[in-house]
Amino acid sequence: MAVTTTPVDDGAIDGFGEGLHGELLRPGDPNYDETRAIWNGMIDRRPALIARAMGVSDVIAAVNFAREQDMVLAIRGAGHNIAGNAVCDDGLMLDLSAMRSVQVDPEEKTARVEPGATLGDFDHEAQAFGLATPLGINSTTGVAGLTLGGGFGWLTRRYGMTVDNLRSVDIVTADGELRHASDDENPDLFWGVRGGGGNFGVVTSFEFDLHEVGPEVLTGMVVYHGADAPDVLRHVRDFNETAPDESTVWMVLRKAPPLPFLPEDVHGEDVLVVVPFYAGDMAAGEDVLAPIREYGDPIADVVGPHQYAEFQQAFDPLLEEGARNYWKSHNFSTVSDDAIDTVVEYARDLPSPLS
Ligand SMILES: Cc1cc2nc3c(=O)[nH]c(=O)nc-3n(C[C@H](O)[C@H](O)[C@H](O)COP(=O)(O)OP(=O)(O)OC[C@H]3O[C@@H](n4cnc5c(N)ncnc54)[C@H](O)[C@@H]3O)c2cc1C
Repeated sequence: MAVTTTPVDDGAIDGFGEGLHGELLRPGDPNYDETRAIWNGMIDRRPALIARAMGVSDVIAAVNFAREQDMVLAIRGAGHNIAGNAVCDDGLMLDLSAMRSVQVDPEEKTARVEPGATLGDFDHEAQAFGLATPLGINSTTGVAGLTLGGGFGWLTRRYGMTVDNLRSVDIVTADGELRHASDDENPDLFWGVRGGGGNFGVVTSFEFDLHEVGPEVLTGMVVYHGADAPDVLRHVRDFNETAPDESTVWMVLRKAPPLPFLPEDVHGEDVLVVVPFYAGDMAAGEDVLAPIREYGDPIADVVGPHQYAEFQQAFDPLLEEGARNYWKSHNFSTVSDDAIDTVVEYARDLPSPLS
């Protein structure tokens, strides 16, 4: 698509703005800088216009305007995409963050979620009925971007990726039409949406299956000295080979944050954080996770019953908005000893306490 640096027709912009229920922002407007800022502080882009949608009608208007004016359209859910795709230079940014309602049907065990909802919004509503669907590990991430990219978290081994739990979407396609896509209706579009990112239209509503989870789950942290990492990583890798789907174990190599349960002389030192999680019966979880908790010589073990919705926010303070981020990822079907040794070697040179 051709990119125009600024829309040529001021009259068309005024007409677009007047037709919106939400605000239309231009450079220099009071909320402009705040609205174009996203989670990754590395991203500094200046859209020509920002439309803050309040509903489907605003989304249709924005898609039609971008098409008619040949403008690049960037879609913002909760703005967590590290590459910064939620915001563009010179084009139209469609900010969906005000559309964040979550409606749960406890009988049907389904949820309808608007595209600006965060994982925290979703869990808050679903957990009122002891329900959940697999989402990510940081409560301020957007349901929209996470789902459209696949989505994985603590419940994924048990209930699949987030997209596996998607029943249907309402989506505004590039021609400005609102379409419903599911296994039965527009199935090709539904297939594309499940993992294809934002390339198939603007999703205005997601419908999810829900599962009974919590409200308490067995989880927490076991923290080891960095020197123990090669050995403990191998142990957890082997544990995962035969662990039941209810369990998930997540590991992070980093400098120890100043958490209250860690001795002060460890703060800032290399540590391996092992986070076991069990989505099921608490007593069964104790037995399943015992080999993780009884291994080696940990500095701290704070595994115990936690409210699921609260645990979903536990890592928020370590993932602060506005920090300058560079991320890279690799997928392995098996974790070899060589891979473990390489990761540990590079983790010894982490450049900052945030890495
Ligand atoms: C701190 C942090 C923790 C994370 N943890 C996890 C995790 O545990 N599991 C996991 O799977 N992912 C995780 N992620 C990755 C996250 O899922 C992606 O970055 C995702 O894109 C964020 O969605 P968003 O709505 O917040 O992002 P945005 O940046 O707002 O959107 C991302 C892209 O999705 C598209 N998009 C957004 N909304 C719509 C819409 N309504 N219709 C069409 N396209 C749309 C757009 O193209 C946009 O560019 C994490 C990210 C961060 C920053």
